Amino acid sequence: MPNALAPEVQNKLLAQDYYRQMNDFLASIGATPEVRMVPNLRDARGRLLSGSWGGGEIRMNPNAEYPARTFAHETAHAVDDAILDLAYPGFGRAITPEVKQLQDALKKMNRYEQARKLNEGSPTTDEYRYSPEELSAFGVGNMLFPDRDPYKVPGHVDATMATWHAVQLELARRAAASKRK
Ligand SMILES: [Zn+2]
Repeated sequence: MPNALAPEVQNKLLAQDYYRQMNDFLASIGATPEVRMVPNLRDARGRLLSGSWGGGEIRMNPNAEYPARTFAHETAHAVDDAILDLAYPGFGRAITPEVKQLQDALKKMNRYEQARKLNEGSPTTDEYRYSPEELSAFGVGNMLFPDRDPYKVPGHVDATMATWHAVQLELARRAAASKRK
């Protein structure tokens, strides 16, 4: 648990089972992001700078209105990065059956496809909010901490994305374990 966060924010996060699952998963593969408070984070509440292999750094705006939701959102991004690293380990690395399963799931639950469909259906969609990466992270953050979301997105979108995230996290956990065998 990153202790750069205020204790009340840490407590809010740790009270959420899914946040703990994400946190434990990242720790288990050595990909816990560093946390840094950046007061001049322009207009953003938080931001994930990806690492080349896992980790990376979560930058948090200390004045952000909803720090727990923001942190959960950025953690979901970190998990997505780790999932991709596990699914596509690079040339010459072993593809275990569990890794293959993860690859197949990512193809089937295609967030790019989902993003395209959603954009098609609504003339008012926001490009950033409906990008495949943000659909996933907003879904997780909003389901854990349903504070006001400035973007008008139907509730089922967040619910679906959060479910997909959880399914992929479970498959990624198995993929990671299969590599340790
Ligand atoms: Zn984001």
